[in-house]
Amino acid sequence: MVPRVIYGRGSFDDLGEIIAPKRQADAPFIFFIDEVFAGRESLVGRIPLAGRDKIIFINTTDEPKTKQVDALRNQLQEEFGSVSGIIGVGGGSIMDLTKAVGLMMTHEGSSAQYQGWDLLKRPGVYRVGIPTLSGTGAEVSRTAVLTGPERKLGLNSDYTTFDQVLLDPALTKGAPTNQRFFTGMDCYIHCIESLNGTYLNAFSKSYGEKSQELCEEVFLHKNDWDDESDEALMMASWHGGMSIAYSQVGVAHAVSYGMAFVLGTHHGVGNAIVFNYLEEYYPEGVRKFHDMISRWGIDLPRNVCAACTDAQFESMINVSLGMTPLWENALGKNWQRIMTAEKLRKLYERM
Ligand code: NAD
Ligand code: ZN
Repeated sequence: MVPRVIYGRGSFDDLGEIIAPKRQADAPFIFFIDEVFAGRESLVGRIPLAGRDKIIFINTTDEPKTKQVDALRNQLQEEFGSVSGIIGVGGGSIMDLTKAVGLMMTHEGSSAQYQGWDLLKRPGVYRVGIPTLSGTGAEVSRTAVLTGPERKLGLNSDYTTFDQVLLDPALTKGAPTNQRFFTGMDCYIHCIESLNGTYLNAFSKSYGEKSQELCEEVFLHKNDWDDESDEALMMASWHGGMSIAYSQVGVAHAVSYGMAFVLGTHHGVGNAIVFNYLEEYYPEGVRKFHDMISRWGIDLPRNVCAACTDAQFESMINVSLGMTPLWENALGKNWQRIMTAEKLRKLYERM
């Protein structure tokens, strides 16, 4: 679990005070900031820079890659030797990149070697997560999802979680509606998959139910953003992340990981594209999802697999069926009898 968390509208201004005790002599703090904020003084002007501290603006057109993580680690080691810590400000992509680079500062080789479960050997450098989009739960989870040469898979370990998280709902204000909706749906889908999975337990259930309630408050009862929805979704994201940390996600994630690997579809939108067709597995959740889509007037991309070749379908299916824990959570120990390559291909063809 994340050992330290601060919540509050405006708490971003406390960042300097929070990180000060972690500053080591001659080792700067590095700030990974989503490039979308470059030039926005209302955010960048409040970053507490001192000494050799450095801001690196990160383009998130593509979700984080192992190569990108390795290059940033090498750059920081060459330029500074060591750092006092890395602070990430952005959506799930920046959260994962920050977690991963911070870990790789203390591990040799490529981050691709650590994609999997419990392969990291020791803590990384001090890392702070400051989300500016709500939904992925990446601020709280024990994984940093990366696209590598062979697969899209997280660095899952007890060392992966942030050392400190700062939750300031004001930072999410003004993000584009479609983006906020799709990232919010990631959270809603985390809840449905956790609460309807075979791995469910009292710990996950308590967080998942609260998260689902908060998502529904926003997406089934409003149709525009306000301060209250920013706050509700920030906590929904946290609770949804806590829920899956102790259970697992399910069909939508397994299927969308395959799609993301081959087509580069982003996580939130990819999950929504897939979830739209999962009435067989999550009837109640999908019915409410359809209500949310129409209430918020969202155009869901369609026919995304229409131009796929047989080789691409095969690759999607292989990546997806490789996600054993997700399928087992969703469909039980005998999942391979239920979800076959043929059935999955038909599902992709519908999308
Ligand atoms: P994102 O971080 O990829 O950002 C999406 C877009 O929103 C980007 O263009 C970004 O510039 C923009 N943006 C972010 N904050 C903004 C703001 N306040 N105002 C305006 N624009 C803003 O989106 P996401 O959905 O938060 O994250 C998706 C990533 O999270 C994927 O890489 C996925 O694999 C990962 N993820 C990780 C976990 C985990 O547990 N580690 C869980 C789910 C998803
Ligand atoms: Zn997700």
